[in-house]
Amino acid sequence: MGVIRRTKAVNTLLTLFEEKEGAVSVVDLIEELKTEMNKTTVYRVLDRLEQDGFIHSFNGKDALKWYARCKSCTTTSHFDKHPHFQCLRCGKMECLSIDIVIPTLENHTIESQEILLVGCCDECDVTME
Ligand SMILES: [Zn+2]
Ligand SMILES: [Zn+2]
Repeated sequence: MGVIRRTKAVNTLLTLFEEKEGAVSVVDLIEELKTEMNKTTVYRVLDRLEQDGFIHSFNGKDALKWYARCKSCTTTSHFDKHPHFQCLRCGKMECLSIDIVIPTLENHTIESQEILLVGCCDECDVTME
């Protein structure tokens, strides 16, 4: 609860997300920040940033949690309906700026949707046969 406090940890993570292209897994984040903050702090700040609409999270392969910067989310309108793409070669995760329209289901209310596409990214494509 409460307004986000710009602690050093918050600033560190915000800067990290501003510099990153694509998404980062929570394991990589903890590894990258281990000299600066402990795991608990990383999780706490991620939760906070997600609530405030700076980042969104989703599940990748092996139920690993990934985080990426939100482009159009705000605190009040936090929609993250875009699909994600994970490269099986290099492991890179991308937010795709396309909409996948899920048809309305009779007698069901959809509260969230998570679409993960896996394959080969353009950088790895050259090595594919
Ligand atoms: Zn790749
Ligand atoms: Zn995304």
